[in-house]
Amino acid sequence: MKKKTFVAFCVLMATAMTTLAQTQVIAHRGYWKTDGSAQNSIRALVKADTINCYGSEFDVWMTADGKLVVNHDAKVSGIVVEEANATDVLALKLSNGENLPTLEQYLEEGKKCKTRLIFELKPHKNKLLEAKAAIEGLMMVERMGLTDRVEYITFSAKALELFIKYAPKGTPVYYLNGEKTPQELHALGAAGMDYHYSVLKKHPEWIKECHDLGMKVNAWTVNKEEDMKWCIDNNVDFITTNEPELLQKLLK
Ligand code: MG
Repeated sequence: MKKKTFVAFCVLMATAMTTLAQTQVIAHRGYWKTDGSAQNSIRALVKADTINCYGSEFDVWMTADGKLVVNHDAKVSGIVVEEANATDVLALKLSNGENLPTLEQYLEEGKKCKTRLIFELKPHKNKLLEAKAAIEGLMMVERMGLTDRVEYITFSAKALELFIKYAPKGTPVYYLNGEKTPQELHALGAAGMDYHYSVLKKHPEWIKECHDLGMKVNAWTVNKEEDMKWCIDNNVDFITTNEPELLQKLLK
């Protein structure tokens, strides 16, 4: 085959593969809308894995004394996580009776699962603590042998840069905040955008622009059937949802 023909063939195949690639399901804070589960609980991670989600998302904070913990809100039961000691944070109970987990406990369970671990680092008020959380999070994932299983997402532009710089080459890192263009994310070295679906509806051209730059697109948090269908029809690569089974049904 002549070189020009071969190149044209490869471009055609790559385009066909992009078109045919099926949207993947990511459970938002695990699959928590089930009996005995709770948002960001270890049980929710196991449930997401049981129904074969591509990934299970969870939120990470660092306590004032340097412990990485899994929780969504900055403040829980009157305790500001980044200003509190680990002992106080880890004594808190989730709604399903589990103790609020450390990142290490969470990842330990993740090792037994097949689902990918979608690690969201929350933006901290204390930016030094946030940087420490990003670096220590990366180190923990590596130490636990999970480098190939974890993807990083964050609303923090600074943490995005740290993850891109210090994660092993090829580790997917996505930005959540919605204001950066595909070109800006590509220049930073991000794997793509992970934006609220309303942003993608406002800028549908960003989906193709990301794909043309070799990047992926994830939409959050898509819970209604009509919005899921819009994302699927518009070739969004990943959908993060509180309703993973509904999305799986639509994708069948
Ligand atoms: Mg999150």
